[in-house]
Amino acid sequence: MNRTQHRIYFDHAATTAVRPEVADVIYDVMKHVYGNPSSLYKEGHEAAHLVADARARLADILNCAPNELYFTSCGTESDNWAIKGTAFKLAGKGKHLITSKIEHHAILHSMEWLKTQGFDITYLDVDELGRVNPQDVAAAIREDTILVSIMMANNEVGTIQPVEEIARICHEKQVLFHCDAVQAFGAIPIDVKKLGVDMMSFSGHKLGTPKGIGLMYMRRGVRIDNLIHGGAQEYGKRAGTENVPYIVGLAKAAELAMAEMPEKTAKLTELREYLVKELLSKISHSRYNGDPVHRLPNNMNFSFEFIEGESILLMLDALGYDTSSGSACASSDLKPSHVLLAIGLPAEIAHGSIRITLGSDNTKEDVEALAKDLPEIIERLRQMSPLWEAFQKGEIENCLIP
Ligand SMILES: *Cc1c(COP(=O)(O)O)cnc(C)c1O
Repeated sequence: MNRTQHRIYFDHAATTAVRPEVADVIYDVMKHVYGNPSSLYKEGHEAAHLVADARARLADILNCAPNELYFTSCGTESDNWAIKGTAFKLAGKGKHLITSKIEHHAILHSMEWLKTQGFDITYLDVDELGRVNPQDVAAAIREDTILVSIMMANNEVGTIQPVEEIARICHEKQVLFHCDAVQAFGAIPIDVKKLGVDMMSFSGHKLGTPKGIGLMYMRRGVRIDNLIHGGAQEYGKRAGTENVPYIVGLAKAAELAMAEMPEKTAKLTELREYLVKELLSKISHSRYNGDPVHRLPNNMNFSFEFIEGESILLMLDALGYDTSSGSACASSDLKPSHVLLAIGLPAEIAHGSIRITLGSDNTKEDVEALAKDLPEIIERLRQMSPLWEAFQKGEIENCLIP
């Protein structure tokens, strides 16, 4: 159990290490191409060429035209742009937007802010697996609805949404559809034309770039307001001198992810299924959250009754494991996760939850070690838990986990 030097990273949904291949191309651009892509001399042309090349390679991967892609600073910016840009452009047509209760805070907090500007927001429920029902989207669309925003894959429980069906419904009703694909990008195939989305958000650091590079797909013909005003970069839609090295890094990371996807999916699914089986069989009163089938290959989310996710996380940390708890994104914020509440978990159960997200660097040895250590940690924490004691004495009932 003494593993103070060797850390095992199980939080790939939060961020990933920069891939060496990506760091190499970024450093290469930093060393050799310092020009401003807008400049009309050789160094500028070189930089502009790199940006155009990266855009074309990403367009190839996502199956769109290069001029339907816009580089941003992060996934959060892309989400903000899609929502606020649409709201302000179409406020004259209507002030109603639809989203789900399990979106990332980049979406939910943008929607909350729009409410202060006079917009009306519908937050759709999800089922106990975390799925949005496309019929609920259809039923929620009104005369004054201007945008539907539903994510492709959830960052906490990994549930993959029926995006293609939702997009079809939105188009039948002539409402714009935006999709946050930050967690899905590089993990599952994405073809924006086949999905039929109008806008889609992406970020680099979930697939091996440094933090601080994002991407937005906007279908040709979609008109929304700009969020960042200034120069004429990004076809006049997103001002600011381009982060050329990171843009090149993003194209590299996406290409690597695409090439590795079949093998990585098979490997992570196998590791995941092993760990799920081990933990559920070894730990009583435990629950595997999310959709067992429509799920990101790398995601696991568990609830363990009678204890706190934070305590589990801290004890895992002490043993060298990086995981995340079921209490909101911010560790300073001890409210139970809005996603776990939305899938119907009582607050006490949501509090006792942890997320484990795998990556290519994880091995069979890593998950075997966790399969041994985590049940011991749960056992120790339950020995200290007054709730567990009361339950053992038959003074309280357990909530929902047999
Ligand atoms: C990480 C994440 C974001 C935010 O992306 P940043 O690049 O960190 O701003 C948005 N949505 C989802 C689903 C995410 O997982």
